[in-house]
Amino acid sequence: MKLTRLIAALAATAILAIGCTASSENAEMDRFINDLMSKMTLEEKLGQLNLPSCPSEIVTGNEQCENILENIKAGKVGAILNTYGYANILPYQKAAVEESRLGIPLLTGLDVIHGHKTVCPIPLGLAATWNPAAIEEASRLAALEATADGINWTYNPMVDISRDPRWGRCAEGAGEDPYLSGVVAQAMVRGYQGTAEELYNGNERMLACLKHFALYGGAASGLDYTEVDMSLMRMYNEYFPQYKAAVEAGVGSVMTSFNDINGMPSTANKWLLTNLLRDEWGFEGFVVSDYNAVGELIRHGVAADKEDAAVISFNAGLDMDMVTAGCLELEAAVKDGRVSMKTIDTACRRVLEAKYKLGLFENPYKHLDPALAERIFTPESREAARKISEESFVLLKNEGALPLAKNAKIAVVGPLAAAGEQYPGTWTGAAYKNYPSLLEAMQKVEGAKVIYARGSNILEDAELEKAASYRYTYERDPRSEAALIREAVAAARRADVVVAAVGEAGYMSGESVSRTDLNLPGCQRRLLEALVKTGKPVVMVLFTGRPMTIAWEDANMNAILNTWFGGSEAGEAISNVLFGDVNPSGKITMTFPRTVGQCPIYYNQKNNPRPAKAKHKTFRRYNSNWFDCSMQPLYPFGYGLSYTTFEYSAPVLSDTLMVGRAPVKATVTVKNTGKYDGYETVQLYIRDVVTPNWTRPVKELKGFEKVFIKAGESAEVEFEITPEMLSWYVVDQYNLSGSSKPMHAELVLEEGDFLIMTGPNSRDTQAVKLTVK
Ligand code: BGC
Repeated sequence: MKLTRLIAALAATAILAIGCTASSENAEMDRFINDLMSKMTLEEKLGQLNLPSCPSEIVTGNEQCENILENIKAGKVGAILNTYGYANILPYQKAAVEESRLGIPLLTGLDVIHGHKTVCPIPLGLAATWNPAAIEEASRLAALEATADGINWTYNPMVDISRDPRWGRCAEGAGEDPYLSGVVAQAMVRGYQGTAEELYNGNERMLACLKHFALYGGAASGLDYTEVDMSLMRMYNEYFPQYKAAVEAGVGSVMTSFNDINGMPSTANKWLLTNLLRDEWGFEGFVVSDYNAVGELIRHGVAADKEDAAVISFNAGLDMDMVTAGCLELEAAVKDGRVSMKTIDTACRRVLEAKYKLGLFENPYKHLDPALAERIFTPESREAARKISEESFVLLKNEGALPLAKNAKIAVVGPLAAAGEQYPGTWTGAAYKNYPSLLEAMQKVEGAKVIYARGSNILEDAELEKAASYRYTYERDPRSEAALIREAVAAARRADVVVAAVGEAGYMSGESVSRTDLNLPGCQRRLLEALVKTGKPVVMVLFTGRPMTIAWEDANMNAILNTWFGGSEAGEAISNVLFGDVNPSGKITMTFPRTVGQCPIYYNQKNNPRPAKAKHKTFRRYNSNWFDCSMQPLYPFGYGLSYTTFEYSAPVLSDTLMVGRAPVKATVTVKNTGKYDGYETVQLYIRDVVTPNWTRPVKELKGFEKVFIKAGESAEVEFEITPEMLSWYVVDQYNLSGSSKPMHAELVLEEGDFLIMTGPNSRDTQAVKLTVK
């Protein structure tokens, strides 16, 4: 019988909050804020909790702008969002600093997610680099440019786990794995905020905001904003770790999510915002609602009106209200005791602390200097973004068509080949209207003979009309489908190889863009079918914000390079990879299904009592399998090819017994057996074999290492297996209302056998047994 050893009861972790300055500096901040707050009226304190959205440009006489300016002067605004640029932000900041009674500066927020003018890949692409340093650099670049445009607060990292590619917002996160998402989140926090000193004294860093707290990616059927009903075991083990990791990295603010959790909306959820986030995890920054999430408590049916909604959410632990302005209606509630003065004081203090840590009280105009524009879209930043972009691409298939020969005759076709305006992808409101396209980049390659034909539009005509009605437009070729395909086929016939740039338009993934069909739009598929019939090798360059169902393409294309939305420099980056100047090294961080019917789909599934066996090629009654589809995904989590090949040894343990808590080493040898030098991400997975009473995933990622290996050479990669990696949460009592009965959650380490698995992806692993005594 196995024993469960408690290795750590849940206790508040020691957290390094941003600006976790030496205690004397904290004391100075406390003194400063005490003094300031002693002068503030209740109305002014509530004002600090108010975050209105501004029109994108400030226009004299515009009613909304004038209203916000008047409210700022009256001390009724703590922060603004959705406008940027020196000329737009300065009047608001001046009104706060020079015309409000206490001169408290504003936080200026914007969704600077993966770039500002220089744009890096969408976060799902950034995660595919498996390179925390590159991800940190992407966030640093975003901060460098956005702060030059007057922004001091971003709404990122978004770390919602998503196992369902129907959900359009999976583009904004790091994918399906909590460990990897935690590493990504920490890298982003470092990139945005820098050190406490850089944040306070410099003007190149900004406050980060962890979102969406919590479980937003668990939205039922991939439909945005829907409910999440989830066991606490799953939350703690599979959906919370990356939020906790970002808190541990010192993220300065947290945003609530729109969804409800087991029947209680996040924004009204005291268990989530106070017991878990603050009492268990020790978060010290401030919590902001998502856009109008306070007001939407009325639609959730848990609040009667705006005032009621504000009472509920601030009592739950909210500190700032985005857009609803319910906080401004709290005076009566404070006077009659529905909300305590202490609650308001605490929220106000947290907001003021963030401003203090940004150095705004000392220099409120540090991000407001027209000369800072010099650091936007510089050659250095663009080059850095291009390298990150190159590293994010995932080679999904290659039968030798790639890399392209530089002297080849290449037919470049497809609706995304010349569509540089689509490459930034979601959440790039500040980006330029257009960026250099793949076609332009390929045309510049010396020796290459490029023949271009558009081949198709992105969507069928009827869909295009719909898109236009949502204000999303891109150039539509007025020619008939037959004429477009005819031209592309003629180009293919004259060429040695075809490069087909296909996929989603930039707006087809992101907020609220849930899809039930993840195939390529029909007009694009028909183009590919016609190209295949020419007999020429076809290289598919895929643009997408999510895993798509490309089983037909996998069977029929000669090579597939998935490029996500690679950002402002994607055109050149893709060209560099296609021509082999850069060897692709990205790996997917969300499973690619064969068909949408397999969704949700993820590698770290629970042990199944009747598992489908890989050797069974067809349907087996009474096994857990699909009648009409393979159990296997098209591409598993962690998968991605290279122009070279790697051979893995089985992992070797320094000791097959873990005694006490002494870590054990696992070493794996990886040999580059191909012709090209290349990077490989070696992955470590662990499984606890027998876990009394509770089911556990068949494997979980616990480490990875990206190594550069020259052709013909080998690398030894060593992982330290610690007791923490082997442990997991048991949560068996809870109280979601956040009242006095405590939650009982324990991190446990089981004695007994574990499988230690290493490999190039989550499917092709080799295992050894480790026994814990
Ligand atoms: C999104 C957030 C975003 C906010 C502010 C909301 O609709 O859910 O992710 O930060 O808007 O733009």
